[in-house]
Amino acid sequence: MMAKAQDVWTVIRLLQWSTDYLKSKGIDNARLNVERMLCKVLNLDRIHLYLHFDRPLTKSELQAFKALLLRRARNEPLQYILEETEFYSLPIKVGPGVLIPRPETEVLVDRAMNVARSFPPPIRLLDVGTGTGAIAIALAKHLPEARISAIDISDAALKLAHENAQRNDVVSRLELRKLDILSPLPAGWPPQRFHMVVSNPPYVAPEEKDTLAPEIVEFEPHEALFCQQPLQYYERLAGLGPRLLEPEGWLLCEIAPHRTEAVRELFVQHGFHEVEVFPDLAGKARVIQGRMSSKRKGGDNNESEHLS
Ligand code: GLN
Repeated sequence: MMAKAQDVWTVIRLLQWSTDYLKSKGIDNARLNVERMLCKVLNLDRIHLYLHFDRPLTKSELQAFKALLLRRARNEPLQYILEETEFYSLPIKVGPGVLIPRPETEVLVDRAMNVARSFPPPIRLLDVGTGTGAIAIALAKHLPEARISAIDISDAALKLAHENAQRNDVVSRLELRKLDILSPLPAGWPPQRFHMVVSNPPYVAPEEKDTLAPEIVEFEPHEALFCQQPLQYYERLAGLGPRLLEPEGWLLCEIAPHRTEAVRELFVQHGFHEVEVFPDLAGKARVIQGRMSSKRKGGDNNESEHLS
């Protein structure tokens, strides 16, 4: 006997039902989320999904889709479910334990590129807390003569960053290293100072936890989001200026908009000049850049023994 029309889960019927379901769970952009998950399960792009509205799903396709739908209904970020996102128009693999690259961080890449072009190549660049490698890879892609180093404390992040570098064909120009920027730096590192240091450090204070969406707090790595003291990473990076940066080298960081003035002051206190702040696409202050004074010499006191 043939199944009745209403028993058959076609693409369109599933789209409609699942969109209502996600909406009832309070998920924003429910329809788009459902389309993207269905595309993944059926291995189709969105155009082809639309061209196959009447296609019935097999039992195993339905099961696979249901598993993804339930994950999304429990607030898991769509990017983790799809295992991929786009950053600076590049495909970036994402996974548990590693922060999902944000669109606002593209502003940091824009600024870094702008500054990089003021140096004669080859420019040396360091990305601190690289995560998926998104920033470093975008820079490597657009600055073909740059030599880029990227560090992170997380093994999961370094593994993913390596995969992303492979996928985007920049593996030979990206050096990844496990390193905690808050700990004393290893002797002899870096072998040469950088022209630019970029970082999107953890900058959410623990007491600001409630301001974050459940997707973020429940699923993204807290070590990439939260800092014990709001300024600790900026203080450390600015303090390491002479150790990490060439004279007149640049430090560029992503910031929380409400900490702009505090971070600016800190940059200035540490002898950075040409300090400027740039907004993200939502108009919020998001990136700060400053140039180290060529008069600053030597490293942090407790690390001067490592200076070459
Ligand atoms: N902008 C991120 C968020 O609030 C935080 C990223 C970070 O701490 N570097 O989702």
